[in-house]
Amino acid sequence: MNNMKKIAEKELYAVKTENGIWREELCLKKAVHMLLLYLKTIEIPAEKEIIVAGGRGIKEKKDFRTLQSLADVLGGTMGVSRPLVDEGWFPRELQIGINGKRVEPGLYVAVGISGAFQHMAAVKEADYIIVMNTDRNAPFFERADFGIVGDYKKILPFLLWEMEKKTPRTGGFLEYIKKK
Ligand SMILES: Cc1cc2nc3c(=O)[nH]c(=O)nc-3n(C[C@H](O)[C@H](O)[C@H](O)COP(=O)(O)OP(=O)(O)OC[C@H]3O[C@@H](n4cnc5c(N)ncnc54)[C@H](O)[C@@H]3O)c2cc1C
Repeated sequence: MNNMKKIAEKELYAVKTENGIWREELCLKKAVHMLLLYLKTIEIPAEKEIIVAGGRGIKEKKDFRTLQSLADVLGGTMGVSRPLVDEGWFPRELQIGINGKRVEPGLYVAVGISGAFQHMAAVKEADYIIVMNTDRNAPFFERADFGIVGDYKKILPFLLWEMEKKTPRTGGFLEYIKKK
């Protein structure tokens, strides 16, 4: 875990903040803390779902365990982009997009998804969109309310570590930070 902290203090990230302004060269620790602060400010209607979705940027199927953990901590469910269904990794029911499900979540977290219009069209009614992608020019960042440019393999473990430190209870994270 000390290694994780060291990496988090060294690696540099760019963040798109909620007012559309980019902050450059933040260390991962700072970028993740900004995301946690952002989560504290947003109001997700109780009746709306939270979806954590992964795309072709997720290199190994086992990495989806980390996305599932994030969905669990947020009290949400998982979604995927089409290539992962075409690849046979996931059933069609999980596909988000014009040929899959159209969704209106309170919060949509897109990890390793470029933001092709066939995908984005199906999430355009989301209240809030958070994007994590290594490519600053990925189209999804244009629609993102908050975004981190970087590798999910580094962002997600640190984010989860920080979240789980704050609340060990699955699904209770958003309620918990709002009370703090
Ligand atoms: C008729 C038609 C219907 C379609 N219907 C759908 C549909 O219903 N749903 C759908 O999703 N698509 C659909 N598509 C496909 C769509 O056009 C895109 O090809 C698809 O959405 C791309 O999926 P992706 O973003 O996961 O993959 P990619 O476009 O390959 O993007 C992967 C992203 O991951 C990022 N990345 C790479 N490594 C990392 C890392 N380590 N950490 C973080 N990010 C990383 C890359 O920068 C890239 O932006 C349809 C296409 C057609 C023609």
